[in-house]
Amino acid sequence: MQTASNHLLTSSSFVPNFPCSKSFLKHPNLTFLISPICSSSSKDGPKKPTRRRSYGSSRKSVLRKTFKQEQVTFTAPVSDDPLVAIIGGGMSGLLCALQLEKRGVRSTVFDTGIHGLGGRMGTRSIDEMVFDHAAQFFTVSNSAFCELVDEWSQKGFVRQSQGVIGELEAGGQFFPFLSSPPRYIAVNGMRTLADSLLSQSSMIEVVRPCWISSMEPYNGMWHLSENGKHRGQFDTTVIAHNGKCANRLLSTSGLPLIARQMKRLDLSSIWALLAAFEDPLPFPGETDAPFEGAFVKGIDSVSWMGNNTQKLSSSQKVGPPHCWTFFSTASFGKRNKVPQENIPSATAEKVKLLMLAGVENALGLEIGSLKTPIYARVQLWGAALPTNTPGIPCIFDPLGRTGICGDWLLGSSLEAAALSGLSLGNHIADFLKSGGSRPDEFAVGLHEDFHPLQGHEIGQFPGLEFNKDICEAEVQLQA
Ligand SMILES: Cc1cc2nc3c(=O)[nH]c(=O)nc-3n(C[C@H](O)[C@H](O)[C@H](O)COP(=O)(O)OP(=O)(O)OC[C@H]3O[C@@H](n4cnc5c(N)ncnc54)[C@H](O)[C@@H]3O)c2cc1C
Repeated sequence: MQTASNHLLTSSSFVPNFPCSKSFLKHPNLTFLISPICSSSSKDGPKKPTRRRSYGSSRKSVLRKTFKQEQVTFTAPVSDDPLVAIIGGGMSGLLCALQLEKRGVRSTVFDTGIHGLGGRMGTRSIDEMVFDHAAQFFTVSNSAFCELVDEWSQKGFVRQSQGVIGELEAGGQFFPFLSSPPRYIAVNGMRTLADSLLSQSSMIEVVRPCWISSMEPYNGMWHLSENGKHRGQFDTTVIAHNGKCANRLLSTSGLPLIARQMKRLDLSSIWALLAAFEDPLPFPGETDAPFEGAFVKGIDSVSWMGNNTQKLSSSQKVGPPHCWTFFSTASFGKRNKVPQENIPSATAEKVKLLMLAGVENALGLEIGSLKTPIYARVQLWGAALPTNTPGIPCIFDPLGRTGICGDWLLGSSLEAAALSGLSLGNHIADFLKSGGSRPDEFAVGLHEDFHPLQGHEIGQFPGLEFNKDICEAEVQLQA
């Protein structure tokens, strides 16, 4: 059996290129793919296209394709030893894979991560500086997730963070949360949790960095490829990512219901500033800021500030350097949005200065008195957090044998992502066990309406605010 650790494939290309157009013909047992370009197959899957057509990527073009496509219908019985493709190695994709393994189902996780798995639980290490540059901590409210987090704690993957957090109002007014629920962090930065989770798996293969650019049905299986390079064939596919990438992938996949649900999702944009200081951040009347993290109120360019050095240190004495992660508000993110993979240096500089000025204002410091950081880097999370949700654990299309998991199905947090992944893994295991002969029983979430999501700019944390969907999510797990 292939393991996560010994099967890291590499690929240097990251240029979106979509192999071929297609149309589908239904057959009692098989779904055929008919295409002048991809019409023949080999043992390893469809023959490599001789000609490539990259489809238009404008929103209009993607929408047109999304709504025109015909439904793929697989009718062949599911194989005895099915293999599931999971596109996305964030919290939801990884927990989907682990739940499938628990149920005896093999999977392959594809992820674009160059530095590692984890998606938005990312950690950046530069020399001795460590920054969690998206998720800062997580809270637990659902009993299924609670059980899992207890297990992670016992294994030493995560621990509770004891630092003070609270609200910081412009001008340096800090209000600590007096009875906040336990907050968990991964011991050496959030990304290490992703690696730890798969450390004992034996039925999960990881392929990264890999950007799946097309999924095509052929001979009763999904054939995945990366810019024309065949990446394997699978009985079932999981979309464990969202945003522009997912909309493009789904716009020609033959999964109109899944594609429509994905297109309903709205996402915020948030800037992150990673900054390291020689000295502790000053605070009026104190030697340094009296908190490890703070939700900032009343400042457009900063909504959260977290002392990552203090959070990740096991001793009282921390730094230098003092590594802080700052996040903007979503409205600041929207107003200053640029292509996240190609940030103009003028924009990066402007955003950095505006965010540092915001920090100064939040801390109640005199203008220009904040010392220049010894290291600073901005990053845009173009698809940061969902702003609406269908409020269901997962989506599954049994005809097309494809499901979706991700934070946005239940909320905007690691807990929501974990519950969604667990739930889809379980649902797919049940479906595969049924042999695929009773598809109607397994359709989930294909027509659910969406409602707006409330919460902090960087997620929902029960106890710090209430999330009904997560508390009530029924995640039935079978060992
Ligand atoms: C700035 C910020 C701060 C946050 N802070 C917190 C916090 O403090 N606490 C908290 O609980 N939550 C927080 N969140 C939210 C939390 O990070 C997410 O809810 C969670 O990580 C989502 O997990 P996911 O698996 O749904 O998606 P993701 O983590 O986004 O995983 C999707 C993965 O799929 C990959 N992918 C995409 N397209 C493809 C493709 N075509 N082929 C292969 N791979 C692909 C991506 O690279 C990514 O690795 C924060 C988010 C942001 C942006």
